[in-house]
Amino acid sequence: MGKAADVRATGRCLCGAVRFSIRGPLRSSVVACHCTTCRKFTGGLWVGTCARKEHVVIERGDTLKWYRSSAEAQRGFCANCGSGLFWEGDDEPLWSIAAGSLDEPTGLKLAVHSWTAESADYWSFDPGIPTRPGPSGLREP
Ligand SMILES: [Zn+2]
Ligand SMILES: [Zn+2]
Repeated sequence: MGKAADVRATGRCLCGAVRFSIRGPLRSSVVACHCTTCRKFTGGLWVGTCARKEHVVIERGDTLKWYRSSAEAQRGFCANCGSGLFWEGDDEPLWSIAAGSLDEPTGLKLAVHSWTAESADYWSFDPGIPTRPGPSGLREP
């Protein structure tokens, strides 16, 4: 019972083969990343929050696979259903976590669009949400 109280959030892939919990702070600000790599990885946008990697507990992970998407980072996804779940930078203490994988209510809020310099030609932006041509500028939870 004490352990359950520590869970800030839970999440899963589409098929449910990968399940995880966040047992620590979860950043309440969500970033929508428009970079080409995130768009190719997701088929849309990477919409992510973040937590320290030691606070992300993989409860079920038999189909969790990692793809090295750049020289500095890898991305975790479910090899069964294809859901994109995590981004891990080699030198980062944080994991970016796909907001769409989290069980609701998330309590999160979209804060910024990042890498808009690479956004798709079909995209249009909500003027109420800040945009950044490069990194979001958001860091720790
Ligand atoms: Zn799955
Ligand atoms: Zn990106």
